[in-house]
Amino acid sequence: KGKRAFIAGVADDNGYGWAIAKSLAAAGAEILVGTWVPALNIFESSLRRGKFDESRVLPDGSLMEITKVYPLDAVFDNPEDVPEEIKTNKRYAGSSNWTVQEAAECVKNDFGSIDILVHSLANGPEVVKPLLETSRKGYLAAISASSYSYVSLLKHFLPIINPGGSSISLTYIASERIIPGYGGGMSSAKAALESDTRVLAFEAGRRKGIRVNTISAGPLRSRAAKAIGFIDMMIDYSSANAPLEKELSADEVGNTAAFLASPLASAITGGVIYVDNGLNAMGVGV
Ligand code: NAD
Repeated sequence: KGKRAFIAGVADDNGYGWAIAKSLAAAGAEILVGTWVPALNIFESSLRRGKFDESRVLPDGSLMEITKVYPLDAVFDNPEDVPEEIKTNKRYAGSSNWTVQEAAECVKNDFGSIDILVHSLANGPEVVKPLLETSRKGYLAAISASSYSYVSLLKHFLPIINPGGSSISLTYIASERIIPGYGGGMSSAKAALESDTRVLAFEAGRRKGIRVNTISAGPLRSRAAKAIGFIDMMIDYSSANAPLEKELSADEVGNTAAFLASPLASAITGGVIYVDNGLNAMGVGV
């Protein structure tokens, strides 16, 4: 039987989440996505109006189907966590059941179970500030949206992940090497995400035999990356310095996610898998 995937962090056709959805769909998986509440209307209407149809084409010529789009805000675990100003915000008031716990419950009620959980989201409100200028609030917000959001997603979805299932997140090498410009505590958030990948691999592995890995991806011109401001420079730097001189395509990350979610990767867990044209292996620029 086909597998079912829930991919958190898809709101357009430019990011890694979309590419992962496509690779999983091409491999025969049913696709459910979680879309950030403020981006939900535009994403759903663009899907409906056919704006993404060109990007939906799979290698066999068919179009990727997204079975259901769930509203999600991964910084809130349950309704008790949601402050009044968010509850009454007009971008949120039109949707319901978008906390992590409620989204997992909705998926359970609709489909019973999933096989693959993907976390492809991050947010750091002070990402353009150096760490030395980052406020406590900004730092904690980066960790909340980019790291704890994964702990929470896996915690709430684990009960409905089928045996043999797996989970994948996206990280960036700024966690372990200095990347000036990736600020606001985002480098710290990725370091936490990678460490948590190991601990969660142990806990989810022992509890349910579920595998947990993270893909350390090279630079992609996504919406989130454009907001950081240095993405074109990072892409040029990679082309100039990586062992493979080509530009990284989101599909290459998508295909790695499909591999990691498949039985071909049945002994791979707790890993940080680099999909970056090999840039991580360089010691100096050339
Ligand atoms: P993207 O903009 O496609 O994806 C980020 C998504 O996160 C967006 O859809 C946004 O709506 C969503 N989001 C933000 N806050 C949220 C919240 N509180 N709840 C739910 N959703 C929320 O950009 P992307 O670059 O493809 O990012 C996907 C992942 O890849 C992120 O973890 C990012 O750090 C990682 N990554 C990106 C690059 C790159 O160069 N683009 C490199 C390495 C790793």
